[in-house]
Amino acid sequence: MSRSNRSRPFHKPPICAATGKARFRDRADATLAIRSMTFAASKRVALGLEPRPVPIRSYKCESCGGHHLTRMPLSVYLKLAGLVDSEAVAA
Ligand SMILES: [Zn+2]
Repeated sequence: MSRSNRSRPFHKPPICAATGKARFRDRADATLAIRSMTFAASKRVALGLEPRPVPIRSYKCESCGGHHLTRMPLSVYLKLAGLVDSEAVAA
C-alpha cells in the first residue's frame, strides 16, 4: 500500500451517488472538514488571495445516510422549502 496523497491529512471522502457531494461518516467528521476548509480560506486571505467559498454547515443526507456540507444558511433553505414564512427569517 502506498500513500501518494502526502499533503492531505484526511482521506478523500467517498462521493454520494444521489447528490454527487462528498460523504462524511457523521456530523463530527463533517464539522472537522468545515473547520479545515475555513482555516485554508483564512490562510488564503492572509496571503492576499481571494478566499474560496466555504461551507457553513452540514446536514444529514436521506439517500446515503451520511452527512454533506452546504453553503446555504438554514434560514434560506427553510424559506426555499416553504417551511417558514419569508418574513420570519428576515432578521
Ligand atoms: Zn448523500
